[in-house]
Amino acid sequence: MTDFDVVVIGAGNGGLTAAASLTKAGFKTLLLERHNVPGGCATSFCRGRFEFEVALHQLSGYGQADNPGPLRGFLSQFGIPDRLEFVDMKNLYRLVLPGQLDITLPADREGTTQALVKQFPQDKKAIEGFIDLIYRTFMEHAAVFFQRDPEASAEKYPLMAKYSLQPTEEVMNEYFQNPLIKAALGIYWGYSGVPLSKLPFIDYATLYFAYLHWKPAYIRHGSQALSNALLEYILANGGQARFNCGARKILVEDGRVVGVETEYGDVIKAKAVVSNASSIDTYVELIDEEHVPQEQFKILAGQTVGPSSLTIFVGLDCEPHEVGINDTTNFIISDPDTDKQFASMSRLDTRDDYLLLSCYNLDDPQASPPGTSQVCIVDLKYAEPWLTLSPSEYLQVKFKAADGILQRVEEVFPGFRDHIEEIEVGTPLTHMRYTNSPGGAIYGFDQFAKNSNFFVPPTSPIKGLALAGAWAGPGGFQPSLMSGGSAARAIKRYLEQLGGGK
Ligand SMILES: Cc1cc2nc3c(=O)[nH]c(=O)nc-3n(C[C@H](O)[C@H](O)[C@H](O)COP(=O)(O)OP(=O)(O)OC[C@H]3O[C@@H](n4cnc5c(N)ncnc54)[C@H](O)[C@@H]3O)c2cc1C
Repeated sequence: MTDFDVVVIGAGNGGLTAAASLTKAGFKTLLLERHNVPGGCATSFCRGRFEFEVALHQLSGYGQADNPGPLRGFLSQFGIPDRLEFVDMKNLYRLVLPGQLDITLPADREGTTQALVKQFPQDKKAIEGFIDLIYRTFMEHAAVFFQRDPEASAEKYPLMAKYSLQPTEEVMNEYFQNPLIKAALGIYWGYSGVPLSKLPFIDYATLYFAYLHWKPAYIRHGSQALSNALLEYILANGGQARFNCGARKILVEDGRVVGVETEYGDVIKAKAVVSNASSIDTYVELIDEEHVPQEQFKILAGQTVGPSSLTIFVGLDCEPHEVGINDTTNFIISDPDTDKQFASMSRLDTRDDYLLLSCYNLDDPQASPPGTSQVCIVDLKYAEPWLTLSPSEYLQVKFKAADGILQRVEEVFPGFRDHIEEIEVGTPLTHMRYTNSPGGAIYGFDQFAKNSNFFVPPTSPIKGLALAGAWAGPGGFQPSLMSGGSAARAIKRYLEQLGGGK
């Protein structure tokens, strides 16, 4: 007699939507989370009178009631659109390269095209042609992979066939010479962590299409509100959840999942497991080695751990405009070359880093108490150099790095530092500690083409095990939330084969 049909390990985005989908399908489901709140990265914390958003800067793929994106459709099965308020952002972003470029792109195709043409009038035709290419390539990709056209062929979908795996920089070079246009159109590379010289054009086109067509969104009361709403759905539909209760082992017999052992030594019998822990933890720590086929270790060894973030959370004692912040999303760079921006992610210093500064109050005045502002600055960083620091060096390096970032922010927003009321700094080690993610990686493995689901299928060789979250596919909110749905479908098929399950 099993205790549960399915145990879901981890209450990050992927674990929450997997558990919600499984309870909705009628399976007896238990969610185990080592932390004391749901969400993983999708969470918040309090300092003084501020509640800081940890991760969500711009939600992709949600859309509006009359222009719904795929994520809205997916979350509506759990009643999320009726429970939470999603706020569309007016602009994609403002990008500042001090002394060289300062441009704001509105969150729609027409507005972005006009803003770029205004700044670079001599490149009007190339700008229009390139944005058209983004749309048409994405549409072809969607016809093949989402609508599953049975007659798909390279002749029928020539743009997809030609451009999908080509590096974005090469495609841009067919259209532009000016590095500033490439910077203005390419700054979202950081949302995948892969520089334009390596970013497959289809990933780039999908990213820009999602934000231009459906607009970036912010969730009123932050991503914690979404995590809480998903948990409430799970509990209201008969699911169970235990917090402060990590999984220590996934128990396997004869190549099949039979249960989970918690960190307290309790054994929970289950027919299936969804793991929202990293795939490295899942196969190396949670499952005893003799149950994992060698091939799985080879697959893991062929991948590299992606970037984490040096993140600064700031509460200002003034309204955003008093320090010149007039856009929610602001990128600050010191060089238009994304390879140089990428290289700085492996260093401890922050003088050349690619910075993303979000101030939520612009689109949501309730993001902090009246008369104040909530600001979050993300600087993508790999964990390696941080892992080599001694405890005494760590604090020194952390505060020096944060100071370097604040100096660069001050250049663009004079007076910023004088208005700091609260400040907290998280490093890759902080993200590691709170999410148990190797290297504190925020998108799972490096999102290079060779690591994508084109080449590395997310399926597990162990029967009754499915993975959900950033390590099972692309990282970010939209993919990790939707991955829980795919994992739940795989488990549902497995349990039905086993004989009913419900
Ligand atoms: C600073 C920052 C900014 C970001 N900005 C954006 C953005 O603007 N837009 C966007 O789309 N994405 C953004 N992201 C990325 C996005 O937040 C993540 O890719 C996504 O939330 C990862 O979800 P996940 O399902 O992989 O789970 P995770 O968030 O990694 O959570 C995994 C959960 O599993 C739990 N767990 C692990 N091991 C165990 C165990 N053994 N037992 C029990 N529980 C366990 C962990 O405690 C955690 O709660 C950002 C992330 C960060 C950190």
